[in-house]
Amino acid sequence: MADRTYFDWNATAPLREQARVAVSDALSRTGNASSVHAEGRAARRLVEEARVHVANLVGAEAKNVTFTSGATEANTLALTPGLEIGGRKEPRERLFVSAIEHPSVLCGGRFAQVELLPVTCDGVLDLGALKLAIGKAKRPLVSVMLANNETGVIQPIPEIAEIVHAGDGLLHVDAVQAPGRIGCNMAILCADLLTISSHKLGGPQGAGALIRCGDIQISEPLIKGGGQERGLRGGTENVAGIAGFGAAAAVVAKSTDAPRMAALRDRLENGITLLTPQAVIFGANAPRLPNTTFFSVPGMRAETAIIAFDLNGIAVSSGAACSSGKVQESHVLAAMGVDGALGRGAVRVSIGYSTTEAEIDRFLETWNTLAGSLVKEKRGIAA
Ligand code: PMP
Repeated sequence: MADRTYFDWNATAPLREQARVAVSDALSRTGNASSVHAEGRAARRLVEEARVHVANLVGAEAKNVTFTSGATEANTLALTPGLEIGGRKEPRERLFVSAIEHPSVLCGGRFAQVELLPVTCDGVLDLGALKLAIGKAKRPLVSVMLANNETGVIQPIPEIAEIVHAGDGLLHVDAVQAPGRIGCNMAILCADLLTISSHKLGGPQGAGALIRCGDIQISEPLIKGGGQERGLRGGTENVAGIAGFGAAAAVVAKSTDAPRMAALRDRLENGITLLTPQAVIFGANAPRLPNTTFFSVPGMRAETAIIAFDLNGIAVSSGAACSSGKVQESHVLAAMGVDGALGRGAVRVSIGYSTTEAEIDRFLETWNTLAGSLVKEKRGIAA
C-alpha cells in the first residue's frame, strides 16, 4: 500500500524477502514430505532444512523441534499434564501461568484448570508469588512468556526457571515476541519447552514450532493422524509455510537490528513525552523489547486514536489483535493495576528492522496534529 507506515509488527511482521522466495519455490514443487519418491524426498529436505534453521535460532537440537500451525497450537501442545522427563511417566498436576499471557496460554491448553500468577505494576512476574505457588504444588508446569506482546516487558526467565526447577517443576516459555529483538537461546533461558511463531519473525502466517529441551517428551499429541512430526503432530506438513519459516529464522538468527530499533523507539517515546507530557508509557521502568511502546493519555479512547492514525496512513493497534476486530480492555494492563479509563486509551506502536527515522517523525507529526482533538474529545465526553 502506497504511503503507509506499518507500526503493528507485534501483531504480524512483514514477510521477509528470503521467506517469500522460499515459500514461492516450495509452492512451485509437488511432493508430500512423507512420500518416498524423489518429489517426496525433496519436500522432506525443505522441511528438515527449516527444522535446522529454527533449532539454530533457539540453540536447540533439530530433532526437538515440532512444527505446528502457529504459536497458538504450539502453546496448546505444550500445556499438557502428559509431560515426561527422561521417559518417567509422572503427570504434571497443576498449571500456573502469569496473568499477562497470550489467551492461548491463559486458557490452559489441555489442563482442566489454570492458576494465575500476579505481576507487579511494571508488568514483571511477582517472583514471591511464584515461589509461594510452587512451594505448595506437586510436579507443577509453569508457563511464562519471554516478552509481553502488548507492553514489550521482558520477564526474568532464567530466575523464574531456577525457582520452578527447585520446586520440581517444568517451565514453558512463549517466546513469540523475542526473535530478532532479544536473544532466545533455550539453554541460557533454562526453558524446558519454548514456543515461537513464523509470522512474528518475518515468515508466513500459519506456521510455528514447539521446541523441547533434550529430555522432555510429550506423551499425547494434540492432533493425532498419520504420525508426522515424530508422532507429535498428525497431518501433511505445510511445506511452503515451514520452508518460509526456516528461511526467516535463518536471517533472524544473524540479525543485529536491536540497537537501531531501540534508538528509534527512544526517539518515538521522547517525542510523545515532549508533545504530551501527561502520556503514560506502560512498563517503562522494566526491561522491555527494543521495538514496543504501549502508551496512553488520560482522556483518550484507543478506538478513536487508532482510526485517526489509520486515516493518516499509520497502522497502530490497541494491544493484542483480537479476532473480532473490536478493541477490548487489556487484561495485561488490568493485571498491572492500570486504571480502567487510562487503559482504554492505550495505543501500541510496534516497529521492526525496516522502520526508518522518517516514519517515526511522521508518527510524531501526526500525533502533534491529532493529540489535542483526541484527548479533548474524550474530555468532552467525560464532562
Ligand atoms: N503468543 C504471543 C505472545 C503472541 O503475541 C501471539 C500472537 N499474537 C501468539 C502467542 C499466537 O501466535 P499465532 O498467531 O502464531 O497463533
